[in-house]
Amino acid sequence: MSGDFSPDQKRYLEGFVSGVQAVRVARGAPVLGGGSAAAAAPALNEPTGPDAIHLKAMAAQEKAGKKLVAQEKAKRDEHPFDAYGRFKQMAKDGQFAKSIDDFRIRFHGLFYVGPTQDAYMCRLRIHNGVLKAWQFRGVADLADAHGGGYSHVTTRANLQVREIDAKNGVPFIEGLVDIGLTARGSGADNIRNVTGTPTAGIDPQELVDTRPYAKEWHHHILNDRALYGLPRKFNVAFDGAGRIAALEDTNDIGFQAVEIRDGFGVAPGVWWRLALGGITGHKDFARDTGVIVPLDEAIRVADAIVRVFIASGDRSDRAKARLKYVLDAWGFEKFLAEVETTLGAPLTRAPAEAVAPRPDSDRLAHIGVHPQKQAGLNWVGVVLRLGKLTCDQMRGLATISERYGDGDVRLTVWQNLLLSGVKDADVAAVEAEIAALGLATQASNVRAGLVACTGSRGCKFAAADTKGFADQIADHVDGVLAVDTPVNIHVTGCHHSCAQHYIGDIGLIGAKVPVGEEDMVEGFHILVGGGFGADAFIARELVRDVKGEDCPAVVEKMLRGYMAGRAAPDETFA
Ligand code: SF4
Repeated sequence: MSGDFSPDQKRYLEGFVSGVQAVRVARGAPVLGGGSAAAAAPALNEPTGPDAIHLKAMAAQEKAGKKLVAQEKAKRDEHPFDAYGRFKQMAKDGQFAKSIDDFRIRFHGLFYVGPTQDAYMCRLRIHNGVLKAWQFRGVADLADAHGGGYSHVTTRANLQVREIDAKNGVPFIEGLVDIGLTARGSGADNIRNVTGTPTAGIDPQELVDTRPYAKEWHHHILNDRALYGLPRKFNVAFDGAGRIAALEDTNDIGFQAVEIRDGFGVAPGVWWRLALGGITGHKDFARDTGVIVPLDEAIRVADAIVRVFIASGDRSDRAKARLKYVLDAWGFEKFLAEVETTLGAPLTRAPAEAVAPRPDSDRLAHIGVHPQKQAGLNWVGVVLRLGKLTCDQMRGLATISERYGDGDVRLTVWQNLLLSGVKDADVAAVEAEIAALGLATQASNVRAGLVACTGSRGCKFAAADTKGFADQIADHVDGVLAVDTPVNIHVTGCHHSCAQHYIGDIGLIGAKVPVGEEDMVEGFHILVGGGFGADAFIARELVRDVKGEDCPAVVEKMLRGYMAGRAAPDETFA
């Protein structure tokens, strides 16, 4: 990505050098090369090194009278990366990392899932959701050898493997490294799996191939220990304006590829538009900052944003420790000014009128056969039952990808995957071989947009069996009703909102529903009218405390009401 610079990039870089000086002088900071900052010796006992940024933030908040949460103290007492030898020994002794060590071991990608499974879950990192078929097969082999013999595609276009016992946790994550993958930093207070447009590089309508940017950010964050000291988790996504939504507006940082028109004082062409503060579980989408970023500056800008967040995020209240709350407290201008100081360069602003309309995404492009921009080639979207794959199915898909495709397996945030590079002449054979694995390439409008978090089968926070009830809803509706338009139904188990119930046309959030005087059963509160992208909207609550067994009929009624009452077939629920 470095290489030759276009004229626009050269102009930007020239401006960058002078901007560095201007911004720093204006703010009273030392100019680059001036040496004054480098010469200043740290005070005695002042933290230094890569952990200094978050240790100083902790100290400042304590000095201001705030009480650090237990997770912050755990990070300070023993950095989770420094505990790796201890975790290796615990694995040899057959012991799980529990309690506060469960928090620490999440920095290595292992989660103790108790009491539901008394096992580890491992969450990988797969930048842009794209991995090689041989890696996909390798994950299957690891899941067979060390886990429960299956894996799930997650809502961050990632893989999770469950039912890993105590002695197999460390061998599993070390096995990932052997096949060129990692789980490092995929849990706890870290920058999570980097998502991008799943059809990057093959999509006829994309503005940007997001893969190199997701990859560069992935390696950047993996290799700088200073970027592991966040107050809470942090999500970054790159959307290249392809046909399948990457849901970048639900991320802390959403880079959206946009075309800038001529005549607005900035170089026309393709830039990233910077959106910040998305966290739909807290009812907020990433908001447009008015900032646009040259494509090759995305990593530097994201780095500066994260550093400002590390220094300023709340470390005394986990519920308020996300970027959104810094933005709410400071306002965008103060935050962006701080980013400019950290970056050492001014950011570029562009008015909304300068941004050309973005191409629409297609809510069914992740399912079935679609022509690529390369003539004669196709991607084939495989339907997974709420993201689940057996290891045999994974190995079978890897073989199909190698035999008929380009050897890539592309995961999507819609809990499914694509096989790319399939020749027109091979499409029928690929569909037949996928069917022989017990999978499909076609789904009803309800199944195609059905998303569910782990739920009570594997998550201690869940109030309900999300995947089980989601299945029941889809089976029931598909049995009694032909829904004639794509519908997103998102079923989440608790307020953490891993399945993003607030962006579903219909959203369900788990609840313990009172029955009679003393009993409680699993159920849901049901919301309606959410959306994303051009239709971004936070769903509103429609009805509370619906028993799980009653949800299929309630959802059927909602869908019947929608189809009968809409003014036009494409009218959204919102
Ligand atoms: Fe667990 Fe809640 Fe996330 Fe579902 S939304 S996986 S129940 S934390």
